Amino acid sequence: MQSVGFIGWRGMVGSVLIDRMRQENDFQGFDAVFFTTSQAGQPGPDVGGGSAPLRDANDVRALSDMDILVSCQGGEYTKAVHPKLRATGWEGIWIDAASALRMKDDAVIVLDPVNRKVIEQAMENGVRDFVGGNCTVSLMLMGMQGLFDAGLVEWVSSMTYQSASGAGAKNMKELVAQMAGLVDVGRELALDPSSQVLELDRRISAKLNDGSLPADAFGAPLAASLIPWIDSAMEDGRTREEWKGMVETNKILGTTIPIPVDGQCVRVGAMRCHSQALTLKLTRDVPLAEVEGLIAGANDWVKLVPNDKASTLAQLTPAAVSGTLTIPVGRLRKMALGGEYLTAFTVGDQLLWGAAEPVRRMLLIVLGRI
Ligand code: NAP
Repeated sequence: MQSVGFIGWRGMVGSVLIDRMRQENDFQGFDAVFFTTSQAGQPGPDVGGGSAPLRDANDVRALSDMDILVSCQGGEYTKAVHPKLRATGWEGIWIDAASALRMKDDAVIVLDPVNRKVIEQAMENGVRDFVGGNCTVSLMLMGMQGLFDAGLVEWVSSMTYQSASGAGAKNMKELVAQMAGLVDVGRELALDPSSQVLELDRRISAKLNDGSLPADAFGAPLAASLIPWIDSAMEDGRTREEWKGMVETNKILGTTIPIPVDGQCVRVGAMRCHSQALTLKLTRDVPLAEVEGLIAGANDWVKLVPNDKASTLAQLTPAAVSGTLTIPVGRLRKMALGGEYLTAFTVGDQLLWGAAEPVRRMLLIVLGRI
């Protein structure tokens, strides 16, 4: 029986992964072994066969006993341990949620509904490192797969509305703590129908700017505001998050001529769903009904939302999508710019299709289960 080691299983992405695997009854037909960087020897989770003591995730020998390793531990861990492990001659499969190995020539970015052929070809060629993609890129591709598959995309501009969870667990908490700080100064006036709204606004603005809201994680208030900067600066004026859009899209699709992808990435006060307003230049003027058919039929998770207010409010918001695997695509229409210009809005749970689900499914592919 194959052994699968899990590292980073109690972190945010890791615990979503384990939840999904429990939900889908995945923990069967292999030996699951749990590792930790900080709690070796303590009891591990019980995923059906009882609890066993956690193993040391920095013990390269213990890791090399595994046939498959799944890491949601983070990039620093991958950079420190993966090269040492490969240096021992370990030839197992490494599946990772962190970005550290993504752009390496001998690693494949996994998003199997979109690039199953790229994954299978790589496995045939002996590739052993498989990495989940950037959340925004994966969610955009899940939504727009039908158009990419049909060769209809000349370029994409993605303007994002990214959730707090993409920055980590402490950022989610900080967002809610900021909201609580604003409620403290505004509750009374907000609930009083006869209060002056400009006084409410004055109090909220003062609170946002007096430095008293917690902002260690984000560096600025996000609640009742937004932050048009995600990740570090690149030399050409893009942020690293924006740079990933083009390089990862093209690596996932395995394109020979890169499709341009660019835009601005913005953090907003959503909890765990990223949204994106897309502008696509199509390679030709295709009727909207055909575009709709291609998008809706591309995979089992994408869902076309009619371009009307009631459907949009009910189905195309982070609140509606959070915790689900559905990728709604709505606000779809041709733009006034011309028949080849299409706009769409899409939302996705960045901890599910944006992080844990591609990793989970890659494990199932390696195990021969899907
Ligand atoms: P995280 O929640 O910070 O967890 C990472 C590790 O921190 C855990 O595995 C755990 O390791 C340790 N830890 C220490 N105290 C903990 C506590 N109280 N509760 C839980 N874990 C604790 O990391 P993450 O946000 O899941 O991200 C993991 C990797 O996935 C990163 O490389 C990230 O870039 C990537 N990723 C993240 C997202 C996202 O949305 N956050 C999306 C895609 C990819 P030990 O058990 O060994 O102590």
